[in-house]
Amino acid sequence: MGETIFSKIIRKEIPADIVFENDKVLAFKDINPQAPVHVLIIPKIAIPSVRELNGKEHGELLGKLIDAANSIAKDMKISTGGFRLVFNCGADAGQEVYHLHMHLLGGRKLNWPPG
Ligand code: 5GP
Repeated sequence: MGETIFSKIIRKEIPADIVFENDKVLAFKDINPQAPVHVLIIPKIAIPSVRELNGKEHGELLGKLIDAANSIAKDMKISTGGFRLVFNCGADAGQEVYHLHMHLLGGRKLNWPPG
């Protein structure tokens, strides 16, 4: 399983604007934000994409990613207005970094369907 830039962010080898951290999860602001709030929420273990997930093995970890999203959304005052959580999986979805990450987007009206 190859390393990505997110492994270096987890190890604090390169800087990131970290907004949340616990033993299993790290969250930091996206370097190229697509909304006033755009945070990437990642597991500290290197799972490439949603394709490698299953509920039996990763259910608890996924719950921790959702808990982090709710906590950050409250902290950033977008919980009431609403927000979007996105996993891009694979080439057709435009996944660029093969370390599982959930995008938390909010702070403006988000269009649907996405492009
Ligand atoms: P994907 O297209 O794989 O779902 O999203 C990857 C996201 O990671 C993109 O939104 C991109 O802007 C963000 N990103 C890529 N490299 C870095 C980085 O070094 N630091 C931060 N904070 N975000 C990054």
